[in-house]
Amino acid sequence: MSSPATVSHTHPKTKLEDSVQYLKGIGPEKAKALNSVGIETIEDLLYYIPRRYLDRSTILPINKLKVGSTATVIGRVESFGIKRGRRRPQFQVIIRDETGFMYLIWFQKLKYIKNLFEENDLVVASGEVRLFGGLQMIHPEFEIVSKSGVEKDEEELIHTGRIIPLYPSTAELKKLWLDSRGLRRVLKPLLDNVSNLVTETLPQNVISDSDLLSLPKALKNIHFPEDLQVTNLARSRLAFDELFYLELMLALRKKKIHREEGIAFQKPGNLVRPALKMLPFELTSAQKKVLREIAADMMSKTSMHRLLQGDVGSGKTIVALVAMLMAVESGYQSALMAPTEILAEQHYITIHQMLESLGVETVLLTSSVVGSERKSILEDIARGTAKVIIGTHALIQKKVDFFKLGLVVIDEQHRFGVMQRAKLKQKGSSPDVLVMTATPIPRSLALTLYGDLDVSVIDSLPPGRKTIKTYLYSGNSKSKIYEFLEKELQKGHQAYIVYPLVEESEKADLKAATQSHELLKKEIFPHRRLALLHGRIRSKDRESIMQAFRHGDYDILVATTVVEVGVDVPNATVMIIEHAERFGLSQLHQLRGRIGRGEDQSFCLLVADPPLSEEAQKRLKAMCSTTDGFKISEMDLKLRGPGEFFGTRQHGLPELKIADIVTDASLLYQARNWAFRIIEEDPNLVQKENLCIRSNFVRKYKRRFSLVDIG
Ligand code: ADP
Ligand code: MG
Repeated sequence: MSSPATVSHTHPKTKLEDSVQYLKGIGPEKAKALNSVGIETIEDLLYYIPRRYLDRSTILPINKLKVGSTATVIGRVESFGIKRGRRRPQFQVIIRDETGFMYLIWFQKLKYIKNLFEENDLVVASGEVRLFGGLQMIHPEFEIVSKSGVEKDEEELIHTGRIIPLYPSTAELKKLWLDSRGLRRVLKPLLDNVSNLVTETLPQNVISDSDLLSLPKALKNIHFPEDLQVTNLARSRLAFDELFYLELMLALRKKKIHREEGIAFQKPGNLVRPALKMLPFELTSAQKKVLREIAADMMSKTSMHRLLQGDVGSGKTIVALVAMLMAVESGYQSALMAPTEILAEQHYITIHQMLESLGVETVLLTSSVVGSERKSILEDIARGTAKVIIGTHALIQKKVDFFKLGLVVIDEQHRFGVMQRAKLKQKGSSPDVLVMTATPIPRSLALTLYGDLDVSVIDSLPPGRKTIKTYLYSGNSKSKIYEFLEKELQKGHQAYIVYPLVEESEKADLKAATQSHELLKKEIFPHRRLALLHGRIRSKDRESIMQAFRHGDYDILVATTVVEVGVDVPNATVMIIEHAERFGLSQLHQLRGRIGRGEDQSFCLLVADPPLSEEAQKRLKAMCSTTDGFKISEMDLKLRGPGEFFGTRQHGLPELKIADIVTDASLLYQARNWAFRIIEEDPNLVQKENLCIRSNFVRKYKRRFSLVDIG
C-alpha cells in the first residue's frame, strides 16, 4: 500500500498546464486514477469542485459534547495503544482538554495509525460522539496540530477545525489514498500558492461591476472556505467564468460569420411568386415576418446564419421552400437535410409536387437510393441540373458534389451534430445557412445553444386549428378506445396508432407493433384499411405507404416512432400512443404534432398501464394539460435537466462543469452581456484591460474554438 500523498510545497515554477504527476506524492499510479475522473493537469485539480462541505469550524469543550451529535474537539494526547478487545483489536487514543477526556478509536489501518501519535501531541478530531464506557469517536477525521512542541498555525488545519470540503471520489481513488482527505492534502499547498499559480481571467471592471470574487479568492474559498456563505460567492464566480467564456466564443463566432463574405441573392421573383400562388392557403403574418427576415439576410452580402424556430405544425416547411426558391432564382442550388429518411421522403413528396410544375428539378438522396438511380442523381447534383436537393445524412458523404450550392437548410437541427452541419456547409462556398427547429426551449438555453445565430420565430399557428384534446387511458379501456376511434373513422377521418421502438429492445418492439397490426386488421377493424409502417420497411415501400395514407387509401396507420417528425396528413385526427409511459416528453409532443394539422378537432389518446413511475405520471399529466410547446419544453428541462439538451455532442461548445443554465440563468445573462459588449468594442481583444481575456482564451479555449468556428 502506498502512503498518503505528502503535504509538499509546490515548486515555484509549477504551471497550470503541468500534469498532476508533477506534484510531489503523485506517482504514475495516482496520476492515472486522477485522469480517470478527468483530472489531468494542476488546473483540472484546482477546478475539481467539492461535492459539499462539512462544518468543523466550531470546537467544543469535551464536557459540552452531546452523545449522538457530530462535533469537533481539540485536546492533548494522554496515552495511546492497541487494545485486544473480545472481538477485534482496536487502537485507542485518549485525549484531554481542560474539561475532560475522551477516546478516539480505530479498528482499521492500525499499523499506519499507531505510528502517528505521540504523547502530548495536540489533536483536533471530528466525528460522531458516542458513549461506550466513556465518550468516544470511532474513525474520527483528525489532524495533529502540534508535534514536538512546534505549534501549527490554526490556518494550516486541513482536515478539521474548519469547514472542510468533501470531494466526489471513486473506489480507485480511495484505494490510492485519494479520498477527500487525500485530495485535501494535495490541494492545500496548491491553494496556499494559488495567487502565483493563476492569473485573473476577467477584466477588473467586470469583476467589480458584477460583484465577483477575484479568481484566487474564489478558488481558495471553493476548497477551503472561510465560512459557508462564501462558498456560494466562490461558486458563482467560477460559474460566471465558465459562462463568460462560453458566450465569448459565441460572440466571436457570430462576429466571424458576420464578416464572412457571402452570396447576395436577388430579390424574390419569378419562382417564389407563382409558388406562393399555388398554395391553397395564405401565409400567416408570422410566416410573412420570418420570410422578410430571411430574404433580407439572403439579399445582403454577408452570409446568413439563422435559426427558424416554430412549434410543430407552425408551417416551417413552406418558409424553407421559399428560401430555397430564392437561391434557385439566383442560379444556385439549395439543399435540405432532414434527420430521418421518412421525413426527407415527406419533404420530397411535398416539394417535388409543387416544383415540378415550375420546372425546378427536385431530387431525393438518402442511403436507400442506390444503384443506377443514385448514380444519375449524383450526376444531376454535380452538373447542376438538380436545383433543390433533399436528403438525409447521405448528403454529406464524400461522393456528393454540388455544382453551386448557395443555401443549406437543416430541418430539426437539434438532431444533428455540429460536425454534420458543418460538413454540409462545406459543400458550397460560403452558402447561407438556415437551421430549423420545432423544439421550443427556454430563453436561457436558447441563448447558449444558438447564441451565435440570428433567430426568427414563427409564433402563431395557421388559423382555424383547434387545440388537440389529449386523454390518458389504461390498457383495460381498449374496447372503449377502439369504439371512439371507429366513430372518428366514420366521419371520414384517419388515425395513427403508434408503438414505441427503442434500440435496445428493438426486436421485441418491432414484434409488438407487427402483431398488433395483424390483430387489429383481422379482429378489431376487419372492415377498415390498415397499413404498417416501421424503419425496417424498404424505403420505396415506405414512400408508397405514406403516399397512400396521405391520399386516404388507408384509414389507420400502425407505426413505430418513424412518424415522429415531419409527417403531414391533415385529415388524420386521432393518434393512439401505446405504452405512452415509455416516451420522453418532447417526443410525445412531436408525435402528437402529427395530428391537429387540419381544421377538424383532433384527439390524442395516451395508453399506459399502471404502475407508473412518478416521472412518467408527470409527463403524461403535462401532455393532457397543455399543447403549448414552450410549457412542455420547460417541464422537460425540469424533469431531465439540461444535460440532454446541452451536450458537447450537439454543438461543439465546452461542457459546463460548474454553471447550470437553468439555475444560473441570471448569471448567464450578465456574462453574455459582458462578452458580447466586449467583443463588439474590441473584437481582437487587444485593449489593455482585455488582454487577460485574450491570454486565458488562447491558453484554454483556442483548441475548441476551431471546432466552434465551423458550426
Ligand atoms: P412544421 O412547422 O411542423 O414543419 P409544416 O410545415 O409541416 O409544419 O406545416 C404544417 C401544416 O400546416 C401543413 O399541412 C401545411 O401545409 C400547413 N400550413 C402551413 N402554413 C399554413 C398556412 N399559412 N395556413 C394554413 N395551413 C398552413
Ligand atoms: Mg417540419
